[in-house]
Amino acid sequence: MEVLVYPDPVLRRGGKTVTVFDPELRATAARMMEAMYAEGGVGLAAPQVGIEWKLLVLNPSGSADERSGERVLCNPKITRKKGREFGEEGCLSFPGIHAEVERWVDITVTYHDLDGKEQTLQASDWLARIVQHELDHLEGVLFTDRLTAADKLRVKSQLAELEDRFRARA
Ligand SMILES: [Zn+2]
Repeated sequence: MEVLVYPDPVLRRGGKTVTVFDPELRATAARMMEAMYAEGGVGLAAPQVGIEWKLLVLNPSGSADERSGERVLCNPKITRKKGREFGEEGCLSFPGIHAEVERWVDITVTYHDLDGKEQTLQASDWLARIVQHELDHLEGVLFTDRLTAADKLRVKSQLAELEDRFRARA
């Protein structure tokens, strides 16, 4: 399972609603979780590995030794949100780029678990930030879209470098 890197156009396609909760979905989520650990991430969305489903995995610890933090969310939707705060983010699809992004501090998310059961998640701070970052991927939104004008300027040359690398591989 390979994580796609900006500016791969697949990252802009987002994902479709998951309607079939079968062993294949479970296996895909498990493979995504392993890919996330392998890349040193704390979250991964299906479109980042070329799978167009509204499916994301996360573990705020980023450590395979602390599996209790693992969460798999299908079709997540924010139903309540409160407070705004800037915080630093990176993205496995943007190697080497880090920047401050403004997110909701407290959110309530409804989603389907791997059995297709509707669940509710209350998240704050770091967990809320991860969920919002990954949820964006499901809509084809990338964290660089949300940077301040000053940060967009600051990372411009790094983005251009990733674009050059992508073109060279294509
Ligand atoms: Zn990301």
